Amino acid sequence: MKKHGTILIIDDTASIVGILTLCLNEQYEILSASNGEQGIKLAQQTENLDLILLDIEMPGLNGYQVCERLQADPSTSAIPIIFVTGKLDVKDEEKRLGMGAMDYITKPIHPPIVIARARTQVTLKQQKEKLEKMALHDQLTDLYNRHFLLDAATKKVSEAIRHQYPLSVLMLDIDFFKSINDEYGHSAGDTVLKSVAKLLKKEYRNEDIAARFGGEEFVVLLSHCTQEKAVIKANQLREKIEAMKPIGLKVTVSIGVSELSKDETSFTELLDRADQALYQAKESGRNKVIVYDMGTNKDN
Ligand code: GH3
Ligand code: MG
Ligand code: MG
Ligand code: MG
Repeated sequence: MKKHGTILIIDDTASIVGILTLCLNEQYEILSASNGEQGIKLAQQTENLDLILLDIEMPGLNGYQVCERLQADPSTSAIPIIFVTGKLDVKDEEKRLGMGAMDYITKPIHPPIVIARARTQVTLKQQKEKLEKMALHDQLTDLYNRHFLLDAATKKVSEAIRHQYPLSVLMLDIDFFKSINDEYGHSAGDTVLKSVAKLLKKEYRNEDIAARFGGEEFVVLLSHCTQEKAVIKANQLREKIEAMKPIGLKVTVSIGVSELSKDETSFTELLDRADQALYQAKESGRNKVIVYDMGTNKDN
């Protein structure tokens, strides 16, 4: 059966780990740790962990301390935690809620309660992730959207200035895209957009950001990349897109390139220059790469 998520159980008592595992392993992948340190390590190493069941009373780090450490680490802070506890009093309850733990289970363990509480937390976590992903991605192409780009680019600009590394931006626009829609229909147009996006996804490195900026416009932010290298990269992309022929159609792009200048602090200006270069690429015949020339364009 397909599992619905991954749950980590942190408990020093093997029999409790055993019972909780039995309750949940039909529906979820189960990982376990017998102490806090090991549990934290496992939580940090596991991708897509959906829930942690955390014993409060353990030798070494207790559950509260483990909870604090998990919440202080950005790589684990979004994982919901259900405390597993032998005793329940009001003070403890206050403490748990104050720490942001989502729920608790009391010992002795009642399997239906474990299953129900785990399901609620896993579902909430997965729904939240889905919404976050949707808010940052373009639904047609699954690339990042404009909102994400503007946010992430501002951070990249600060980083590039602080660590003094080059940062360049490409602005791509599909040539005569309207006529693809007009001649072959909107869904053919959509397929072309998806194909271009897929190629961008394949081509960019992890530290780069490719986003759908608007209708048939894409932006690629290249970290540690000078203008000269960005032009080479842009021409490779342009050639690959031309060679791609999605649904048998010749598709070309025009690309404007610009590099962050030394005295610059905002992404808007950088992007604006790439946009001006793109405009020149369109004006001068399309299917080409034009770099914004600081020298010539300064007085324009
Ligand atoms: P140019 O070479 O000057 O860029 O010409 P163009 O036809 O590509 O540019 P124009 O701005 O005139 O047309 C862009 C078209 O993109 C118009 C719009 O209907 C289409 N478009 C925008 N978003 C989508 C989409 O999500 N799907 C489809 N199929 N078409 C879209
Ligand atoms: Mg214990
Ligand atoms: Mg266009
Ligand atoms: Mg356009």
